[in-house]
Amino acid sequence: MIDDLPPLREVIETHGIAAKKALGQNFLLDLNLTAKIARLAGDLTETDVLEIGPGPGGLTRGLLAENARRVLAIEKDPRCLPALEQIASRYPNRLAIINGDALEVDVSAHLTPPYKIAANLPYNVGTELLVRWLTPAVWPPQWSSLTLMFQREVAQRITAAPGSKAYGRLALLAQWRSEPRIVLDLPPEAFSPAPKVSSAVVHLKALPAPRFPADPGTLNRVVAAAFNQRRKMLRSALKSVSPMIEDHLIAAGIKPTERAEQVGLEAFCALARSLDS
Ligand code: SAM
Repeated sequence: MIDDLPPLREVIETHGIAAKKALGQNFLLDLNLTAKIARLAGDLTETDVLEIGPGPGGLTRGLLAENARRVLAIEKDPRCLPALEQIASRYPNRLAIINGDALEVDVSAHLTPPYKIAANLPYNVGTELLVRWLTPAVWPPQWSSLTLMFQREVAQRITAAPGSKAYGRLALLAQWRSEPRIVLDLPPEAFSPAPKVSSAVVHLKALPAPRFPADPGTLNRVVAAAFNQRRKMLRSALKSVSPMIEDHLIAAGIKPTERAEQVGLEAFCALARSLDS
């Protein structure tokens, strides 16, 4: 037992938190597993942690049991609030809860940077938030690391190397400014209800500076366009980005006839710089 609170199955029953598909609710009920995920986030004793989508609080309890200094949990589903309040009473002054949409809440007033981010999120919200966390105008960001659960396929897209099928926008944005690693694989049965696919935890450590200079907005726009039509040669896939795209590709050392998946991070950054020059 990691704490003296009731088991998660009981919490879910007491508070009537039957999983809703529309909210991407697949809960982790094994507190030893959630404590293990919390440990993968690193030493939490001196750090605030932002948790998105705590649900009935399995990972939240793991983070607190692993001595997170303070946790800010943002949960969209109001049915989860009484369960989270119960955890907050067990750990006085260490858990703050916001009932809201993580895509809309501004967390900066509530946390002392550099903080860590940990979450087991629905797929769509997860990738959207990841891209936002990786593309702030200023770097280093307010967070020092992200420890995030994804479908395994998405985790592979974040850590993919050039030339592979999974290589694309997520790999480039993640590897540009952080060091992403898959740190844990989980089968569908680890969740309740069990999803159709396997999952993986990805740990992303923020680099002190991006690997190559580029404007985050331009880089994001270029790689999105390049991989949107990944089978096309870059000179046509990127036509909408600039009428002079061939010149920019050549200036960046990229053959205009190459396809996006053959081009590495350094060359994409050079292309973004050329477009901004
Ligand atoms: N962290 C819990 C666990 O590991 O058992 C729950 C994980 S469940 C996959 C995802 C959680 O995110 C749900 O509790 C869901 O209500 C919440 N959620 C979904 N969309 C959200 C959003 N936009 N903002 C905040 N929470 C959201």
